[in-house]
Amino acid sequence: MAGQGHFDAIIVGAGPAGLALATMLRPELRVLVLERRAQPAKAPPIGESLPGATAVLLQRLQLWERFQQAGHRERGGAVAVWDQESPVWQDAIRDPAGPGWHLDRGRFEAMLRQRALEAGADLLEGCAPSDIRHHQGLWQLATPQGRFQAPVLVDATGRSGSLGRQLGLKRQSGDPLLCLYSFLEQGSQRQDSTLRLQADAQGWWYTVPLPQGQRVLAYHLDGDDPQGRQLRRPEAFLAKARQHPLLAEVLADLPPAQLRCRAAGTSLLPVEELPKAGPGFLAIGDALLAFDPIASQGIFHSLASAASATKAIKAGLDHPDLGLGAYQQEMQAVTQRYLWHLKASYQGPRRFSQEPFWQRRQ
Ligand SMILES: Cc1cc2nc3c(=O)[nH]c(=O)nc-3n(C[C@H](O)[C@H](O)[C@H](O)COP(=O)(O)OP(=O)(O)OC[C@H]3O[C@@H](n4cnc5c(N)ncnc54)[C@H](O)[C@@H]3O)c2cc1C
Repeated sequence: MAGQGHFDAIIVGAGPAGLALATMLRPELRVLVLERRAQPAKAPPIGESLPGATAVLLQRLQLWERFQQAGHRERGGAVAVWDQESPVWQDAIRDPAGPGWHLDRGRFEAMLRQRALEAGADLLEGCAPSDIRHHQGLWQLATPQGRFQAPVLVDATGRSGSLGRQLGLKRQSGDPLLCLYSFLEQGSQRQDSTLRLQADAQGWWYTVPLPQGQRVLAYHLDGDDPQGRQLRRPEAFLAKARQHPLLAEVLADLPPAQLRCRAAGTSLLPVEELPKAGPGFLAIGDALLAFDPIASQGIFHSLASAASATKAIKAGLDHPDLGLGAYQQEMQAVTQRYLWHLKASYQGPRRFSQEPFWQRRQ
């Protein structure tokens, strides 16, 4: 599709949040999704832990059966060297919502994309808005593939929040947390499905097996920590992880693999900023609140905020601001609860409380 078009809602960003919102708004509303990438990223994104509570949202998206058949791995237990120096086990079965999953993330995102298209959303890939204006009750977007307009505009651009920034909104993203990670080849014979979490003086590690015979190993440290540069060598990265017996047990004979890097600190758009963009503007998923990976809640939040935004958009069809108040209140409560838990998590390893990494997050 190229040229001109009038829609009920335009969503910018086709990650989990944008695709879920597009699906939920159909069939009642005409929805356009703009995605700047022409093709899915070659390397799967990091982020694979999905809590059991997501099942309800997958049912709402009519994806539950498909999801169950897609080969995602049910979460096993978790073992952490965190509050104490000795490992503490946690059994996933105790979670009342069910143990959750470790995702094949590429497959998961392809499923969401397919579902949005089946639901009848229009999706333009390789297409980012170059000019955005609000005029006479409509958002008007100029893109390389044409001009589009709608009374509702949604920022689903992820942690960059690039649409909100383009509209002059101010994000809070002061945490320099960086995630260095590798997808290690370990074959599918290994039986250990435990999530391993390890705090050290300069940051924290996790490792867990993924569905396709890989194991993710990730280290979270400050972006301005000089050791980050040395650790970008795959051998050095693996050697540092192996200094911890909890990690060495499962990494002992694995070969090093390419190292990748992502900004990972909390980044949020305060809900009070939303109305400043103009009527009918919303942000969802990471564009609203990007979680620290310690929470393992980012994808769940993306789908849940899409469900809340669906309610707000449908309520505000004739009066674009009608649903926004309830959405703001709900997201404010989510943000406050998250920030409280985040602080409590980083206060756990008291033995490191004098270390800059941990002090920064008290
Ligand atoms: C290190 C790390 C570990 C993580 N671990 C977990 C985990 O274990 N469990 C979990 O649930 N979550 C985890 N997450 C978070 C999770 O990956 C995100 O919360 C989730 O991807 C957010 O989805 P989204 O749709 O909001 O944004 P994204 O997935 O970032 O999608 C945004 C989309 O918008 C597009 N876009 C951006 N700008 C534009 C533009 N101007 N125009 C058009 N398109 C644009 C992008 O190309 C992208 O496709 C982790 C994150 C990090 C960094």
